[in-house]
Amino acid sequence: MSRASGNTGTAGVPRIHCPSCRKPGDWSAESPFRPFCSERCRLIDLGAWASERYAIPVETPPDQDEF
Ligand SMILES: [Zn+2]
Repeated sequence: MSRASGNTGTAGVPRIHCPSCRKPGDWSAESPFRPFCSERCRLIDLGAWASERYAIPVETPPDQDEF
């Protein structure tokens, strides 16, 4: 019974849960949206953070084409 040094699991890729949708996924070093599973979830989390911080009572139309 030897104590292994390090915290590597059975698999080489650590598993994560997306903070936004709680969906389990692989923590890939190539993922640009870490720790989120996708860009969509990242934007959702950023939006929630911004609304919580600033509490802006503004409704943004989803189909706004204004540039
Ligand atoms: Zn997600």
